[in-house]
Amino acid sequence: MRWKESLRPLAAPVLRQPVFIVESDDWGPGDPVQAEALRAVAGVLEHHRDAAGRPARMTIGVVLSVPDAGRIAATGDYHARLLDEPEYRPIVDALQEGVSRGVFDLQLHGLAHYWSDNLMALWRRDEAVRRWLAKAGWRTERLPAWLQSRWIDAVDGLPSRPLDRSVIRRAVREEVEVFHRCFGYPPKVAVPPTFVWDGNVEAAYTEAGIEVLITPGRRYAGRDAAGRLTPPERGYYNGEALSSGLIALVRDVYFEPALGHTPEGVLAAVERKWRRREPALLETHRFNFLDGNLEASLDALDRLLREVRGRFPQVRFLSSRHLAGAMADLSDPSPVVRLRALWRRWLG
Ligand SMILES: [Zn+2]
Repeated sequence: MRWKESLRPLAAPVLRQPVFIVESDDWGPGDPVQAEALRAVAGVLEHHRDAAGRPARMTIGVVLSVPDAGRIAATGDYHARLLDEPEYRPIVDALQEGVSRGVFDLQLHGLAHYWSDNLMALWRRDEAVRRWLAKAGWRTERLPAWLQSRWIDAVDGLPSRPLDRSVIRRAVREEVEVFHRCFGYPPKVAVPPTFVWDGNVEAAYTEAGIEVLITPGRRYAGRDAAGRLTPPERGYYNGEALSSGLIALVRDVYFEPALGHTPEGVLAAVERKWRRREPALLETHRFNFLDGNLEASLDALDRLLREVRGRFPQVRFLSSRHLAGAMADLSDPSPVVRLRALWRRWLG
């Protein structure tokens, strides 16, 4: 089966032009400082245009709720605050503004960045989680990594177990409805939190109208006894039409300036992608644009976009949804180009 896995990237479309997409996850209800950060990011993106005049794009993986610290403490039961509450209006406005300016495209990250039963089980037995909730319960990126996975059952602790199919279907239906209510249209692209999901989640996404699945190139279905990702169940390639009905994309270039990723390092990765005639989907989280990191990250984003345009004058700025829907149009018909790209993919 190993050799079969190594052939998978050969099936992906061979692009005619470099494609560059920045994907940013975790934005959602919380401190309105996010609205300012989003507007600042939009301002940088708007300055950079591709040869066809399209502005640089950032897809935003939206989280639709955070725990309601006050009510949880008062009742001992789970309660959430949703993104469509008036308090979060400035954040929704900043997102919508970015969409109408053509620089943002909104994707479904999840109703919450955890499975609420897992959160509550740990809240009951772990002082650190209670402190986190009382202090800054909207900063889900500060929870233990395994708890940030949404599509697992870890109520009785680790290792995780799969959630029931019917439970997943109900939860996906709910998150799609809440997204629709917040933004006025249903989501078409889903990004499973921490990239942990299973076949039942894919089927539920399709059933709820999702068309595109963002993956890191493989599927992790659970967490082991130490909270680590369990070994991948399967691989994915760009443009793969899944049996669930979704189209898969692969996001595997990492741009987290706050963690030390430089524009130069990212450019080398984009170069490698282009040699293989594959799109470059970058991953960057909201924490890069909060906590005093904003100015340095905006500067890094600005430099990166300038360098990308300089080095790849034919680059196309697209949304992931657009890319997934236009794979055939974006493919290079030349057999020589195709063979060369496939050879480079084969070499790895
Ligand atoms: Zn996330």
